[in-house]
Amino acid sequence: MNNVAIYPGTFDPITNGHIDIIERACKIFGKVIVAIAKETNKECLFSFEERVHLAKIATEHIDNVKVEAFDGLAVNYVRRKGGSVMIRGLRAVSDFEYELQLALANRNLCEDVETVFLTPQNKYLYLSSSLIKQVIGLGGSIKDYVPDSVFDAVKNKMLSD
Ligand code: ADP
Repeated sequence: MNNVAIYPGTFDPITNGHIDIIERACKIFGKVIVAIAKETNKECLFSFEERVHLAKIATEHIDNVKVEAFDGLAVNYVRRKGGSVMIRGLRAVSDFEYELQLALANRNLCEDVETVFLTPQNKYLYLSSSLIKQVIGLGGSIKDYVPDSVFDAVKNKMLSD
């Protein structure tokens, strides 16, 4: 058995909810790789280079975490990294169906990769990257939801658009 877990996602941008999941995963696994999807069907505010950069700064305080970008299927990336565990976050019930579908599809693609679900603390249960973008777009404050570095980056990005 190996001790590497991969946490794949879009992270556009990384939020305190993602960081909560990463911190939990890092207590369970020897090494956690936050894997940022280069291609996504979501309309992203940040380029993948920016998403990687923001995630690196936001996780600097954690020893056993690494941030990388990947393309193609997440399960293939997990195998390439020599891992067998994929971390996903489960928030409210609304995540469940989508995440279950994804986990089953990934199992069909690769029987050896196991999806492990973690839940964040209550205050992040309804937090998403889309909410962050929506709130700041309407002039609201997102200070409680993202690290300062991400707050500044989102603000600058919105002002420059
Ligand atoms: P994706 O586009 O792959 O869904 P996201 O960056 O939106 O990528 O999310 C990556 C993972 O993190 C998903 O499993 C998602 O459910 C989880 N996640 C996102 N926000 C939170 C949060 N506030 N608390 C816990 N998990 C979260």
